Order: sequence, then C-alpha cells, then structure tokens
Amino acid sequence: MNTEELLRFDREHIWHPYTSTTNPLPVYPVKRAEGVYIELEDGRRLIDGMSSWWCEVHGYNHPVLNAAVEQQLKEMSHVMFGGFTHRPAVELAKKILSVTPEGIDKIFFCDSGSVAVEVAMKMALQYWYAAGREEKKHFLTITKGYHGDTWNAMSVCDPVTGMHGIFHGSLPIQYFVNRPECRFGAPCREEDIRELKDCIEKHHADIAAVILEPIVQGAGGMWFYSADYLRQVRELCNSYDLLLICDEIATGFGRTGKLWAVEHAGISPDIMCIGKAITGGYMSFAATMATSRVADQICSRDPFVFMHGPTFMGNPLACAVANASVGLVLEYDLEKKIGAIERQLKTELQPASENPAVADVRVLGAIGVIEMKEPVNMAVLQARFVEEGIWVRPFGKLVYIMPPFIIQPTELSRLTQGLLKVIHN
Ligand SMILES: *Cc1c(COP(=O)(O)O)cnc(C)c1O
Repeated sequence: MNTEELLRFDREHIWHPYTSTTNPLPVYPVKRAEGVYIELEDGRRLIDGMSSWWCEVHGYNHPVLNAAVEQQLKEMSHVMFGGFTHRPAVELAKKILSVTPEGIDKIFFCDSGSVAVEVAMKMALQYWYAAGREEKKHFLTITKGYHGDTWNAMSVCDPVTGMHGIFHGSLPIQYFVNRPECRFGAPCREEDIRELKDCIEKHHADIAAVILEPIVQGAGGMWFYSADYLRQVRELCNSYDLLLICDEIATGFGRTGKLWAVEHAGISPDIMCIGKAITGGYMSFAATMATSRVADQICSRDPFVFMHGPTFMGNPLACAVANASVGLVLEYDLEKKIGAIERQLKTELQPASENPAVADVRVLGAIGVIEMKEPVNMAVLQARFVEEGIWVRPFGKLVYIMPPFIIQPTELSRLTQGLLKVIHN
C-alpha cells in the first residue's frame, strides 16, 4: 500500500477522535517517532508540542521504556488479574503508593483514563451505599472540566465545552458550579468560592463526592486556578462529609512542575485518578487510588467487594512499562526540569499577548496556552504548523503546547517560534 492508498482507505473507513466520516479533517501519516520528533511518511520531521495528548513525557522510542516492554514480552504479555498477581503489578503499585499524597493507600488498575473516572465514581457511590446512605448518589463539579468520554465521566464534563452536550438528556444529573475565576498564584476570595459553598450547603445530603481536575483544567478549557480554591474545596468536603475525587490523569507525573497537582495546595484527595503519562505514552493504562478509609468502608457491607474488574486489569506489559516510566519521572529533578521549561515558555510566549487576536497567554509547568478571542480553524492551522515543522493541535479558541519533558531549549524555541509565527498571520 502506498501512502496515497493508505490515506484513501483511512478516509473511507476509519474513525479518528471526534471526526466526521463524510467530511474528515486531513490526517498526516506517521512513519516513526523518536525523542521529540515525529517523522511523517514523506520524511518531514515535526517537533512534538502535544506529548501525544499529555502522555509521551519522555519522548518517543525511549531506550529504557523499550527495554522494559521487550523484557516483559519474553515473560508474558498478559495474564488475568482475577486469582493471579505478578511482579510488574506489585512493583508498580509499590512505586506509585510510595509517592502518592498522604493517606492514599489502595490502587485499582484500569484500562484508560475514562475507566479510571468511572471506577472512582463507582467507589464513591459504593462507599455511601456501604454507609447506608444510598441517597448520596450525585456528584458536584465545576464547569469547563473534562473527565473522559464514557458515561459517568461524561456526566461531569462541562455540558458545553466538555464535548458531550448532545448526550446531556440521557446522562445522570449532576451539580455544576462555575469554574473558579481566581487564577493560579492568586488568593481565592470569599466570592470565588461562594457558589460552590452554597451548592454544598443546600445539597450535601444527596452528594456523594466533589470531582474535579486539581489546579489545571485540561481538555475542557486549559485553565489554571488558585491553589487556595482547591484547599477550600478540601475543607468544605471535610466539613460536609463529602468525598473529594481528584482527577490527576492529565496533571499527574510532573506536568505542572510538582509530581501531583494537589501538591500545589498541600491537600490529599480521598480518591485519585491517574493515567496518560503513567506508561510514558506506550499504551493505554490508568489507575484509581483511594484511602484505606474509603476502601475498607466499601468492603464492609454486602457484597463486601468492590464491584469492578476489567478483562485487561493489571496488564503485565502495561505495568512493566509504567514501572519504567514512573521510575524515570522519579529520577528527574522535576522542579528544575519543568521549572526550566516553564521559564522558557513564559519568556517566549509572552510576545503573543501583544497580538490583538489573542485574549490571554498563560503558562504553568510544562503547559503553555494562548487563548484566542475567536475560535480557530483547526484544519488550516494544523497545516500551517506542519509547514513550520511543529505538531500542535488547537481546539476552539485554545492554541496550546505541552511538550515532552526531555525537550531541549533549542527545540522548545523552534516550537514556540513556529507557534507565534502561525498565529501572527
Ligand atoms: C484525558 C483525560 C481523561 C480521559 O482519559 P482517556 O485515557 O482518554 O480515557 C480523564 N480525565 C482527564 C483530566 C483527562 O485529561
């Protein structure tokens, strides 16, 4: 099959994320990828500005991760987790639980981020079921959030920007309050938290948990909010006996400059989801973690077990590569490594704020966001970025980059310069 035939077949038969079958946006055929470079079939090399949607933090084709997969492949690529356990799973659990926020002590391995969110929400519901409080079955969240594409995860995504508006009539009803407008680095004033507080005061009796992305809201709006807000959410959950679920799927493993985004606020959740960077982008894998208090309560009432267990739970190949990836993250001096990327992004993206088409420029950790005043034409912009030798995929009004952590300063400059050049025209 030559490249043209490949593209034709793709266009006629294959769905891509959020695309049309009748009028699909163009896709670019990738041949291989290494480090921060993605090589197209025609030989063009693009600097990756997306880390393949937050995952590929160590870059592509990493020797340590490759070796971990190859070694595990020779032992077994999969074995069921019901009735069996294995070294890759136990070693990974041990490694992750030794660095999780205080109190987090139990881990449930899942297949993807969305499933991790489903599992977290089921844990919260089963926790209250076991406590004899079945009426606590709703969730409270903030607008402009994103938690995945499966059913309950969709129910807590932003009804408008969360990409699932058309399903809203069939989704469980949840409580939404406006996202905090207090920015990261700023204090959270009484009026910033009032709406959330009012909602909790009024409805806490039928709320199981507050669920949100800590500090950074990703795919729902690329917004960075005050750590002080998150701290106050934790306090409100304590006062009103609500569980707090933190979805660290995008933020976990260093993206914001701390290992976990909750560290910015110095808080611990009751239930926590991780995914994306967990395998360094090698395969789909995620986990939901909980405190012993949550886990033990779940198991205190008939059926005395947590009711979930996917086929590929604890997949050894995924655990082995996750072990290697988490090991690399823990070896990094995150404050230094991510701090350097953050400083460079701040300096190099700052000029964009003088562009009259730009509404806001913001940077946190290895995340740089340029918010435009008007929605961008993704197909046009994507092609222009490719011409500039960079890979950036904007959505709505948001043009953003989150490069692999291993990016070198010269490569990062090429990325930011290409980005500015494209949005300036
Ligand atoms: C990507 C993402 C998810 C969903 O993860 P998938 O692996 O795509 O199912 C959930 N929550 C957050 C915060 C995410 O960024």
